[in-house]
Amino acid sequence: MMARLLVVEDEAAIAELMAINLRHAGFDVTIAGDADQAQAAIDSVLPDLVLLDWMLPGQSGLTLAKRWRAQARTRDLPLIMLTARAAEEDKISGLDAGADDYLAKPFSIKELLARIRAVLRRKAPEALDSAVEVGGLRLDPATHRVSRNRDDGVQEVKIGPTEFRLLHFMMTHPERVHSRAQLLDRVWGDHVFIEERTVDVHVKRLREALTPVQCAGLIETVRGAGYRLAAPRP
Ligand code: CA
Repeated sequence: MMARLLVVEDEAAIAELMAINLRHAGFDVTIAGDADQAQAAIDSVLPDLVLLDWMLPGQSGLTLAKRWRAQARTRDLPLIMLTARAAEEDKISGLDAGADDYLAKPFSIKELLARIRAVLRRKAPEALDSAVEVGGLRLDPATHRVSRNRDDGVQEVKIGPTEFRLLHFMMTHPERVHSRAQLLDRVWGDHVFIEERTVDVHVKRLREALTPVQCAGLIETVRGAGYRLAAPRP
């Protein structure tokens, strides 16, 4: 799955240059030119990571970062602060405001990409292409295959695209309970136009897809809370 990045930068030339390079590196990029546009973008689709310029017209990037950290929906949003100010105290206030990392301009695209991947690996591994394995079940985003290793060989799982994304997200966040709203945000990328019971439909299909390999039990229903992928103890 292509990771969604939101670039919040008021200097159009810089924003465009970043977008071109990030798209070339395989990311899906949206640009916001100020705090209001950034908030509107976040309200509509939660990105996998935000690159947030400190100096914006009107509300600053720092204020935005603090506001996002204070709200449940955006509390864990991976966030890299960009700034022309390289002073140590600025770096500290950026990290205090909740940024996961901090990059002083000018930076190379290579460095930017390395920082983005490091933050995603730590906070949103479902946005990366690394294969993941839980309870003998293996999912590989690069080849789009799900399989189960058994004593008598490897068994492939036939699975639809939405169920694949759902399983990927749950496998990269095992043991945690996800509400339907959180799953809509993180798997569908849009919590406004889709009903929550859509999640139930796809969880049912996912269990059906996992039944032939005896893995349907990995997906647990947590009453009144949502769903969890249980990681069996080895
Ligand atoms: Ca700026």
